[in-house]
Amino acid sequence: MKTLEKINKVNGQKITQEDILKIDDNSEIIESSIKDIISPITQDKPIITFIDDDGTSASYTRTYPVFKAQGISATFALVTDFIGTSNHFTLSQIQQLKNEGFDFVSHSKTHSTSAFYTDLANTSDNILETEFKDSKQWFKDNGLGECETIVYPFANFDNHVGVGQEIRVKSIAKKYYNYGVNADGWYNLSPNDNMYIKRYFADFPSGDTLDNVKSVIDNAFSNNGWLILGIHAFDNNQFPTNQLESVIDYIKSKNITVLNFKDAIEYKKNVISVGEFTDRTKGLFIGRDGNVLNNAENCKVITNNYGYTTDDPLSRFAEKKLSIVSIESTGDKIENVGGNLFVYNGGNNYGNEIFIGYYGQKMYIRYWDSANSIWNPWVELTATLTPVSTNSYTSIFDSPVDWYTLNKITNVYIKVGDDSFKNVGGMYNVYHGAIGCSYSTFQPISEFKTYKRLWNNTTSVWGSWNAML
Ligand SMILES: [Zn+2]
Repeated sequence: MKTLEKINKVNGQKITQEDILKIDDNSEIIESSIKDIISPITQDKPIITFIDDDGTSASYTRTYPVFKAQGISATFALVTDFIGTSNHFTLSQIQQLKNEGFDFVSHSKTHSTSAFYTDLANTSDNILETEFKDSKQWFKDNGLGECETIVYPFANFDNHVGVGQEIRVKSIAKKYYNYGVNADGWYNLSPNDNMYIKRYFADFPSGDTLDNVKSVIDNAFSNNGWLILGIHAFDNNQFPTNQLESVIDYIKSKNITVLNFKDAIEYKKNVISVGEFTDRTKGLFIGRDGNVLNNAENCKVITNNYGYTTDDPLSRFAEKKLSIVSIESTGDKIENVGGNLFVYNGGNNYGNEIFIGYYGQKMYIRYWDSANSIWNPWVELTATLTPVSTNSYTSIFDSPVDWYTLNKITNVYIKVGDDSFKNVGGMYNVYHGAIGCSYSTFQPISEFKTYKRLWNNTTSVWGSWNAML
């Protein structure tokens, strides 16, 4: 097989023909979807990168001077239609910084809020294509060379607008760029999702502290991660200048390498990338540390529901895999309506199942009884759900803990306009414990992050929000 020879020639890892066949038996498809074939695998090292978005004048007057004074290079993501307009970088400023070793990448042509955010589901492929293509062309036309990287405007697409948009946007961007950067996430571990590289946005006004950022840095450092810190220079509150200086001082004190995106990717790019990272059925990714992510191997999706029931023994499912099975109503012995069954067979007669009915609101779990080789009874996973659907949401965050049922977790959905913490809405969970161990957590809808605060029993007030790591 031509593809296999190509991979083994440049790659120190042993990949068998069987591995490749697991991904796709059509070698032509594989050939065209292979990216990043480099050799050899090197040891991974922690790296920190700063990416400053939107190319506003504040990038030139506020963040650039900090980077310059600290002797580090950063990456600026430009909305190319705005270059030379008021309150944005001029071309000559960009050229000056480029000569000083700073890096510039695309942040689309127009940064359209409707196209990339509010109306993304209705944005045509052609419009997205123009945003990516024209922006890349601008770099060429203005003597800035081949732009390989797109920092998506808004990003975090599936979270903002619904599942399915992320893969669509990435697949269009992939035609023009080798790398895409998300606006959310923590630090990156090898192998990367090239078209959705994670970025951590500290948000000081919303409760992040210097200590939070330091602990993220510590974590990335101890795991050889690649931490990309996002900045909006125009918003002095998001990452205040003095905090930026303190963070850089801290990074230096720990001797962590700071590189702009262009330089960092040379150390962090995958040894090999095949297929779509997010697609759970096809793909092979090998990181710089030698870690292999083969989604096809980790997750077996059984698409046809022919003959499966909720009574099937563990042995019917593949070992060391998560099987996802659609159960027809006739096979559903729990609710009799059909649903999705998630089975993990860990081997050695160990396993568990989760079932979610198609129409119900309930979720069930059970464990395999290895001694008797039968399933334990289903346990319904419950929480007290208190849907608060009237006004006065704004008071929810301020309500004292005894407003909530004792010894229960209360889940409340907070609407956008009623979210006084993040202004985006999300899920608020309060645990009212009997012995003074009450706390609450909040998951804003715009982030893959949970914030937590403790109830102070002595003063009867909530402590401050902290991002959970
Ligand atoms: Zn932006």
